Amino acid sequence: MSQNAVEKVVIIGSGPAGWTAAIYAARANLQPLVLAGGGPDNDHLPGGQLLFTTDIENFPGFVHGIRGPDLMDTLRQQAQRMGTRTLEHNVTRVDLSSRPFEIWHDAPLMGEEEALTLAHTLIIATGAAANYLGLPSEERFKNNGVSACAVCDGNLPRFKDRPLVVVGGGDSAAEESTYLTKFASKVYLVHRRDALRASKTMAARCLGNTKLVPVWNSTVQEVLGTDAEGVTGVRVKNVATGQTTTLDAAGMFAAIGHTPNTRFLAGQVQLTDKGYIVLKDGFRTLTSVEGVFAAGDCADATYRQAITAAGMGCKAALDAERWLTERGVH
Ligand code: NAP
Repeated sequence: MSQNAVEKVVIIGSGPAGWTAAIYAARANLQPLVLAGGGPDNDHLPGGQLLFTTDIENFPGFVHGIRGPDLMDTLRQQAQRMGTRTLEHNVTRVDLSSRPFEIWHDAPLMGEEEALTLAHTLIIATGAAANYLGLPSEERFKNNGVSACAVCDGNLPRFKDRPLVVVGGGDSAAEESTYLTKFASKVYLVHRRDALRASKTMAARCLGNTKLVPVWNSTVQEVLGTDAEGVTGVRVKNVATGQTTTLDAAGMFAAIGHTPNTRFLAGQVQLTDKGYIVLKDGFRTLTSVEGVFAAGDCADATYRQAITAAGMGCKAALDAERWLTERGVH
């Protein structure tokens, strides 16, 4: 086990929130250490969810858009140029009950099973992972017609004026299916029950859209397609009648919720019943533990955009800096 001096700021996570926090903390001369994920089992790849997207056209500053991995690489380089140090380690557990905080992570390159880092402040920016149905055919067509983010992928040429399928019945499904009607010829909303759980307003807006076709009481059996064409259809089964139907579709969007990457925090910091980190004040990044701040999708079930995560990362670094200054840590 290796153990170093107490870090002023440790940032867990390397998506837009983590790198933006690092840029601000480094500029404030706090020499942040980013535990970026990765490691032997590649549980959480450095870079977060944007590694799985193609073109990002809604991150301000890029007239012609930018590829997700390129954006993450640019943010990483910017943070490192300012003096951020990075370890591509997975955090396995933390002890936030005493000070300095204890952060345990795998240390593959050090030839050790686990390393301990001590920190005065901690910024958690571990993101969330979109839930998928778990079908092998769904896995096969990821990035080839299967997506979990309409805002990221809906505008791709492959979906223009083609029928699409959205799966789910919550606010995300209502919002994403409504959004996709801008591009698609028709959107099938496949839901396993006969009523949406989405809020009344969002459900009414989505079901009132003439391009939307609800497919009630139905589950997806298989995503159909070829490697060359990508998705060409979705086979669904009506759970009430047992009948199966094939919906012609150029894409399938899973909108069945997200799971925040916060399992390692259980019992250490207050989480919602869905695992999101609870912020003491929605406008700040303070958590239930003083000196621990949270940013990005791990603490945001509502917006979940790269730019909002980056904004929260900025706030978390400023909150951490103030906290350190108030306690005389320089
Ligand atoms: P959610 O509310 O948990 O809804 C998930 C939906 O997916 C449910 O309809 C659920 O079906 C269905 N589902 C779950 N697992 C499934 C499976 N294996 N197969 C088929 N269907 C499955 O998740 P969400 O819609 O992502 O919303 C998460 C939170 O973000 C909510 O609090 C929501 O209000 C909020 N949100 C807000 C906005 C907004 O205000 N603009 C937009 C998006 C999200 P059942 O209904 O049968 O359980």
